[in-house]
Amino acid sequence: MAIENKFPGKDVSLEDLKTKFPLVAKKNNNHKSCFDISGVTFGSDLIPIFAGPNMVESKELILDIAQNVKSSGAHFLRGGAFKPLTFPYRSDKYKETRESGIEWLKIAKNEINIPVITEVMEEKYLPLVCEVADILQIGSRNMQNYPFITACAKTGKPIMLKRHYGSSLRDWLGAAEYILYEGNKNVILCERGVSVPHTHRETSRFLLDLQVVPAAQELTHLPIIVDPSHATFWRPWVKSMALASVASGADGIMLEVHPDPPNAAVDPLQPIDYKEFSDLISSMDAVAKTQERKVK
Ligand code: PEP
Ligand code: MN
Repeated sequence: MAIENKFPGKDVSLEDLKTKFPLVAKKNNNHKSCFDISGVTFGSDLIPIFAGPNMVESKELILDIAQNVKSSGAHFLRGGAFKPLTFPYRSDKYKETRESGIEWLKIAKNEINIPVITEVMEEKYLPLVCEVADILQIGSRNMQNYPFITACAKTGKPIMLKRHYGSSLRDWLGAAEYILYEGNKNVILCERGVSVPHTHRETSRFLLDLQVVPAAQELTHLPIIVDPSHATFWRPWVKSMALASVASGADGIMLEVHPDPPNAAVDPLQPIDYKEFSDLISSMDAVAKTQERKVK
């Protein structure tokens, strides 16, 4: 249960639930949103899986990945055409694929018959991205860009709001309130790792905050999914953290999958390959069963 705290601004108080995010807050202990997106139910016993590359690199690659992840049991194809890359310098291999990437996603969606989640970064690209996206991804870096969030909400498209790596639960729920405030009820929260002093490895930038899953579920009726790929930034840790995410009560899992992980154009340390993904689906399903839930 939420309790009044002495440090408003850090975490969530009872007062916040009533006055800061009344739409996001649960109305009672059993209140949980359950909705359908493109034939996939969120907030039920199913734990939907989003899988795909970090970046939509080429038409051939996204078709191959879509085919493979779908046959292993993924419910959504993920992949960015518009990417928030941390530094402006990049080789041709690292160039965002932008409009072409959206076109290739559309081809994969139609040919393989799998719904798509992809990131939108600027309001002016909303009409284009909305043509293909079944879910709009608002990336961690845009989590508190309120005019942008509002514009996304107004499209009426389902939205996945990634948590900024420096944000409190209070800030995250506040950002989600902006979407519900526009009358858009299909909102999914996504934990993707937070900044902390110790991440246990030189190349790891974030720490997966699994405690936020039950913490958020205490306060909000919205589904919360976990992205262990971005959180760990390290392929050998993805399996255990994905299983732990399911055990934590996550309402969905997002995973980066690439046929040749070391040669992925973006973040090559984090994707798992096809075989690892298909094995992981079975393991996640086994863990889900212990919670009376399922992945398949
Ligand atoms: C992504 O999912 O591709 C991404 C860029 O994630 P984040 O915003 O969490 O860094
Ligand atoms: Mn990324």
